[in-house]
Amino acid sequence: MNAKCPCCKGTATVKRGFNYTKKRGKQQRMKCNNCGHTFIVDLGFWHMHNKEEIITMCVDMYLSNLSSRKMRNQLRRHFGIKVSHVTILDWVRKYVLKVQKFVQKIKPQLSGKMYADETEVDCENRKDIFWCCVDWDTRFINATLYSNKSQNLADATEFMKRIKATKKPYYIQTDALPFYPKAFKKVFYSRFLKDKVAHSVVNYSKTKKHNVRIETVFMKVKDRVNDFRGFKALWSAPILMAGIILQHNYIEKHSTTAKVPCELAGQSLNLGENRWLDLIRLSAIMQ
Ligand SMILES: [Zn+2]
Repeated sequence: MNAKCPCCKGTATVKRGFNYTKKRGKQQRMKCNNCGHTFIVDLGFWHMHNKEEIITMCVDMYLSNLSSRKMRNQLRRHFGIKVSHVTILDWVRKYVLKVQKFVQKIKPQLSGKMYADETEVDCENRKDIFWCCVDWDTRFINATLYSNKSQNLADATEFMKRIKATKKPYYIQTDALPFYPKAFKKVFYSRFLKDKVAHSVVNYSKTKKHNVRIETVFMKVKDRVNDFRGFKALWSAPILMAGIILQHNYIEKHSTTAKVPCELAGQSLNLGENRWLDLIRLSAIMQ
């Protein structure tokens, strides 16, 4: 694929020497044969002061559970790189938003067997609610909702709508929260038997069993929430959640299926070993 000229949008472009940057080494310079403009292809790290590998390592490790302060210390200790933990959070936010925008354009192929649940997240002096739905065969998290209100019908309905937008499920299993049946009916009700979506309710407090299907996802989320306390202005909870979901869907192999959920959901993105790096490059090229 030829690089697109940012000036005239033409694709008659050729390689023409390099630009040398202090931190990121030489960068390919391109020349447009149509308008004569020369430019550097932006692969997502334009104007960044650190190497791609360092930045993606920080994003990856932060979202797989190392706090930004610990990450900062490791960079100093092992690479002599001095950045603040706030810079690391900035990287996470920047690239989560970029990649999220990209993956929203590619639809997953889901099994339609879905498990939906919600959990409380301690945030400042509130209890926020994080709603999350996992497609069972693929383990792909296909819908979430982050709300700073306690459970209510409007949020439950919005959550169900988001699930429906990804695929019409065969069944959804939820806990016994009283809002679910109403929300479910509102979004999925059909007069026709063949179009019916099954709703199964499990009262986890009665069965004394957790919804293990989603529990591991929730645990990851709760672990990470501690780290961004007090950073409200810089860093918002929904972005953190989005990052954890990306890490789950696109980066880490699921322990039971031994596959990354996006692969099972038919999204063959040809990502290399450094999945964050390739996801960021893809997001930059496809934007
Ligand atoms: Zn041009």
